[in-house]
Amino acid sequence: DEPKTFSGYIGENKVGGDYKPGTDKPVKGAFVVLVRNLELYQMKESMQSIEDRFNRKHNYPYIFLNDKIFTNEFKIGIRAMTKASVKFGLIPKEHWSYPEFINQTFAKEQRDIMFANKVIYAEVESYHHMCRYNSGFFYRHPLLTEYDYYWRIEPSVTYTCDIDYDPFIYMKEKNIKYGFTIGMLEYIDTIPSLWDKIKKFAKQNTHFINKNNSLSWMSFDNGKTYSRCHFWSNFEIGDLNFFRSEEYTKYFDFLDREGGFFYERWGDAPVHSIAAAMFLPSNQIHYFSDIGYLHPPYQNCPQDPKSLQKCFCDPKNGIIVDKFIQCTKLWVNGVSPIPPNVFANS
Ligand code: GDP
Ligand code: MN
Repeated sequence: DEPKTFSGYIGENKVGGDYKPGTDKPVKGAFVVLVRNLELYQMKESMQSIEDRFNRKHNYPYIFLNDKIFTNEFKIGIRAMTKASVKFGLIPKEHWSYPEFINQTFAKEQRDIMFANKVIYAEVESYHHMCRYNSGFFYRHPLLTEYDYYWRIEPSVTYTCDIDYDPFIYMKEKNIKYGFTIGMLEYIDTIPSLWDKIKKFAKQNTHFINKNNSLSWMSFDNGKTYSRCHFWSNFEIGDLNFFRSEEYTKYFDFLDREGGFFYERWGDAPVHSIAAAMFLPSNQIHYFSDIGYLHPPYQNCPQDPKSLQKCFCDPKNGIIVDKFIQCTKLWVNGVSPIPPNVFANS
């Protein structure tokens, strides 16, 4: 079976992947993975899945990033999983540490309070750095400079369907900037003040708000409160130039200074999602309904019989079973813009 592709990029060697400047590869795409040494075996599991379902036919390179130096054991174990090129990068200290405007004593006090209130991961200091890194820094890593698109993968994820086309090419041809598989509800205790900060940013920056935005998905009351819907960012296929843009840079810097990555437990998922919903027209955000994807305990499983043929997921475990992933269904039902002046006048 030839891989089904767009614009006739057919054949093992011409499709996507392993791009080097000056060659004829159509898309500069890479898998990007933030991971710890101790997750080697969980990471191998994810790679087995993505190689089997997709990348053995494409050979897109992998970029592994870590705040600690990768061990030889990790590197050898990972390289054995693919014939594609693999790069290992160390995260610069400035991208994984406290900015000078953060009060670390206050941050610690807040972590203790959140822990007492059972806020998920709030007591784990490194988790805050991880969320901040994924929100504002991964796309600035020097190893990513030569790429236009990234596909995020994590340890212990499973691709449950054969992927018989190239999502990178799909994104490029349709001018899609952000692709997701699962829409989720966020735990409000991780982001109590986030929406107020977003409204403050939006009020000061109405010129950045896209007229065809998807903000009806982010707020069910015309901007007053956050719906808690977000794209679950452990899967993402995105356009790096979206994150490198002036509006995203201003947005991240603004949120960073508000302190919520450390004084609360803001996740990169709502941060990416609200930016995509606000800055992009809704037709540049794509739900990959046909990609079967499991990050326990939630998954996306295709609902249409044709896509399901090459899957082993049970469609009953798809998008409507659980209230936490009902946001996917809401997205499918349709989104609409909130006009920028709603924020200007708020
Ligand atoms: P969850 O999906 O929210 O439960 O969080 P994970 O434990 O899966 O972490 C999200 C991603 O960040 C995964 O790819 C982890 O490997 C990675 N990650 C989390 N904490 C750290 C850390 O301290 N250092 C590094 N290098 N990666 C981390
Ligand atoms: Mn995870």
